Amino acid sequence: MIFLMLGIGIHSTSLAQGSPNLGKTDRLMEMAKTSISSSEYEKANYYFRQIIESSASIPPEMPYYFAETLFELKQYDNSAKFLNKYLEINGFKAENYEAAKNLEKKLKAPLEAIAACKLCDSKGYRYQPCPTCQGDKVIQQDCSYCKGKGIVGCSRCKATGIVTKKNVFNITEYYQCSRCKGEGRLTCPRCDGSLKEVSACHTCSGFGEVHSEKLCDHQVHHEHADEKTTAQ
Ligand SMILES: [Zn+2]
Ligand SMILES: [Zn+2]
Ligand SMILES: [Zn+2]
Ligand SMILES: [Zn+2]
Repeated sequence: MIFLMLGIGIHSTSLAQGSPNLGKTDRLMEMAKTSISSSEYEKANYYFRQIIESSASIPPEMPYYFAETLFELKQYDNSAKFLNKYLEINGFKAENYEAAKNLEKKLKAPLEAIAACKLCDSKGYRYQPCPTCQGDKVIQQDCSYCKGKGIVGCSRCKATGIVTKKNVFNITEYYQCSRCKGEGRLTCPRCDGSLKEVSACHTCSGFGEVHSEKLCDHQVHHEHADEKTTAQ
């Protein structure tokens, strides 16, 4: 996964001169461009990431080439972000302005496909069933109120089954607790005696699905379709 750092400084080469990392950055840029020309985009991606991680100044044309690479790797959302950044910073005077505008056009269809697809997130990564709840959105666990016992002590009689009252002569009288009918215990009001409680799954926040690292092809697959056939 590529981390987009928009806060990163993209300076002109003249500003970056004198930096000890410049030679290294230039070398990485050349290697990345060579990789692109031989269609080795994974490699190019690796070199661009090295540039970003080096915290040296980013060469002005780098965001364009990176966007091109990300496009080829089908990371359209990330590609668009770098492309926009490139155009925003360099404007129409950019060395690769025409190519960048062309890439912008090429990105339109895949970005629209991602936006229209319900099987993937906004970056085009496929959702997968939540590994914790298996897509159920909820998880069942021991009732936390009764600690999985199904019964709780009656609060009115403090679990004794007996309540006391002072009569008009200030004498204490004993009665059977009407709430628990003298049992001192009640069926747990939260789980209703089922010993289990159901709560929204924490892993997927109740969505039933989680993000994955897999790029989406926006097609329903059979493995996905016959996963859940029973109603919840
Ligand atoms: Zn009671
Ligand atoms: Zn309970
Ligand atoms: Zn879940
Ligand atoms: Zn999709």
